[in-house]
Amino acid sequence: MGRKIAAGNWKMNLTLAEAESFISEFSTGDWPADVEVIFAVPFPYLISLNALAGNRITIAAQNCSDQTEGAFTGEVSAKMLDSASITTVIIGHSERRMYYHETHEILKAKVDQALAFGLTPVFCCGEPLEVREAGTHRHLVSQQIEDSLFHLDSEAFRRLIIAYEPVWAIGTGVTASPEQAQEMHAYIRGVVESKYGSFIAKHLPILYGGSVKANNAKMLFAQEDVDGGLVGGASLITSEFLQITNSF
Ligand code: PEP
Repeated sequence: MGRKIAAGNWKMNLTLAEAESFISEFSTGDWPADVEVIFAVPFPYLISLNALAGNRITIAAQNCSDQTEGAFTGEVSAKMLDSASITTVIIGHSERRMYYHETHEILKAKVDQALAFGLTPVFCCGEPLEVREAGTHRHLVSQQIEDSLFHLDSEAFRRLIIAYEPVWAIGTGVTASPEQAQEMHAYIRGVVESKYGSFIAKHLPILYGGSVKANNAKMLFAQEDVDGGLVGGASLITSEFLQITNSF
């Protein structure tokens, strides 16, 4: 394990008042100094939560536009996020791929936007159930990574965080077993190594996502190639997520 990262993805949950009291309460909690804590929150809350969060918590966006600026009603650009002092953004979450038809090509442009404005992309990949059942999940995941990330030079690539999130495990209560997670993380590291070499592959943070809870985080984070988690449901419960941050 390299970096230790516990990232929460709130999706479209909580009111502003609930979000503010969550962060105020959470920031009084204890977790090891070497564990990086990230909350990806709804756009309208970014600035106020960033002000509340203090320097132990990173407030991140859940998405950004593939364009820099202009006539794109409803979109939020990486340039805007940077101007609001946001440093981190999730790109390519399976819900964005599924419901908003974000293709590998669009995600490539989003990654470029994020990097151009100095943001850290948390790039999500992972296979749906039917792909896992067909046994082609390794191929799909390497395609997702190659098509959206492999145009980057080493300098840019080393700024990424990758989250492996099997779609069949997201919000379903079904978690990949620690062995399944380890197997895919090692595979992803190998794919990265083949293009960028062992140093970059070894230091790339790869998070596991998919029904991570307080009662399974330790087993998952104990795997050699699992550097932490991207957590949906359990990141909305202060005590549960605090336990997850203490599971390394
Ligand atoms: C997610 O939203 O990225 C996620 C993994 O959700 P959950 O933890 O609820 O499965």
